[in-house]
Amino acid sequence: MPDGRRLTVSLPHGVRRVLSVLADADHEAAVVGGSVRDLVAATEPVDWDVATDAPPEVVAGLFPGATWENRFGTVTVRPDGEPVEVTTYRHESGYRDARRPDHVAWGRSLDEDLARRDFTVNAIAWRPLDLESGEGELVDPYDGIGDLQRGMLRAVGDPQQRFAEDALRLVRAARFATRLGLEIEPATEEAIRRNAASAASLSGERVRDELLRILSDPRAAQPPSAALLLLERLGLLAVLFPELAALRGVPQAKALAGDALDHSLRTVDALPADRPLLRLAGLLHDLGKATTLADGHFIGHEMEGAALAAALLERLRLPRRDAERIVRLVSQHMFAYTPEWTDAAVRRFVRRVGPDLLDDLFALRAADNAASGAREPQHGDLGELRQRIAEVAGGPLTQSQLAIDGRVLMQELGLEAGPRVGELLRELLEAVIEDPTLNTREALLGHAQRSLTNPGAPPHQQAQAADGAPAAGDNPAATIGDPGAAPRTPRGARPNRRNPPS
Ligand code: ATP
Ligand code: MG
Repeated sequence: MPDGRRLTVSLPHGVRRVLSVLADADHEAAVVGGSVRDLVAATEPVDWDVATDAPPEVVAGLFPGATWENRFGTVTVRPDGEPVEVTTYRHESGYRDARRPDHVAWGRSLDEDLARRDFTVNAIAWRPLDLESGEGELVDPYDGIGDLQRGMLRAVGDPQQRFAEDALRLVRAARFATRLGLEIEPATEEAIRRNAASAASLSGERVRDELLRILSDPRAAQPPSAALLLLERLGLLAVLFPELAALRGVPQAKALAGDALDHSLRTVDALPADRPLLRLAGLLHDLGKATTLADGHFIGHEMEGAALAAALLERLRLPRRDAERIVRLVSQHMFAYTPEWTDAAVRRFVRRVGPDLLDDLFALRAADNAASGAREPQHGDLGELRQRIAEVAGGPLTQSQLAIDGRVLMQELGLEAGPRVGELLRELLEAVIEDPTLNTREALLGHAQRSLTNPGAPPHQQAQAADGAPAAGDNPAATIGDPGAAPRTPRGARPNRRNPPS
């Protein structure tokens, strides 16, 4: 029985101080949860959680500057800068549904606190015996140490009851199993499957936080695709992310085998672990393929996918700014550069994507290609596109960068405020994107004047997504009938056109 086993640990100074201040105030305190699990597994804990019998207000009183962040009794203290989370022993009852505990009751003992934890490997505590030497004893009433050694993820107590109490544990099971390289114990797995539907009641925020942890775990034994596949196998993917589950079976004509879900998961794995939001974009980039599948074509799947991604991210309550970037990446991921692109086409591309998103879009494309078994390019080359962006996209891309504004237009041309001014500004921007040397006060006023006196003239090149064509790795059939497939030929001469490399 490992319970009571001695373990000498080298505690960070801040954690030692937290434990000793609580002990001096005659309170019990022990290290618990993930940090002890990591210590037992001989990996360096990332964060340290302390459990105590002291109520939150007492903990807060003992540590000046402590913040009491939530109603679950977790006080964050920073004895020397680094945060240590101190949580009052809890005893959870009152689950009305599987969303989250209705209320939290303070527990009386460490044992009670360990009993309310999710998995045996997370229900181990380390109680200090001598803080100076770092000697302490392990408290392991559910044999979490044995489960770690056997490679098992097992619910604490009755699995059915534990998952019925809190459906987030269903998702956490997939995360811990793949992170720690554990098998889910059969009774636990059966209970997960039986309760899978209840994950639908989870708040978007809680699902989001779990998903982002899956996508960003640098220490996971397996890549994020393993956790996502496990969610699928357990019946949770279809409940939480039906749009993703729908990609299963959607055929792909790519060098690498598999369907659109396999491809999406490979894309996630190919993106950097320290960029969870970019990985999320990779996960969602082909969402539109399930609905646009017709005769092996995925026409418009990036726009369908962007709409589906927007709805999914809204459901997860992702901050608006992050969601907007991801949706933009999804909607723009099908660009197909060729050396025939004019300089103006390169500038329109930059404007459409947004200069702030180019690096991420290229990273997504590289991962998309890797996950397709395709090498850029069929036509052009990403390095070449980058180079051309550096060369030609320095000029104005937004109206605010024009040499004149609406006020000058009105003053100089005697115009009333109204929609025509806005139209003119848009026209001027198009002209400047076509030829940046026009961005002077005189040239722009001359251009505007001509446009006013000759309103029948064809409007300047409208910026369509005309230089967007399917990604290199995609089914070539998708280009059929795609109006964006042909490189655009701008009106008139092309003084800026660069010679295609031989
Ligand atoms: P990580 O290293 O990913 O932070 P962790 O084990 O520390 O893993 P946390 O989510 O930080 O996981 O939670 C800390 C501890 O709190 C867990 O080890 C577990 O004991 C307990 N816990 C967290 N969430 C739940 C939950 N929903 N139900 C039961 N216990 C939970
Ligand atoms: Mg933790």
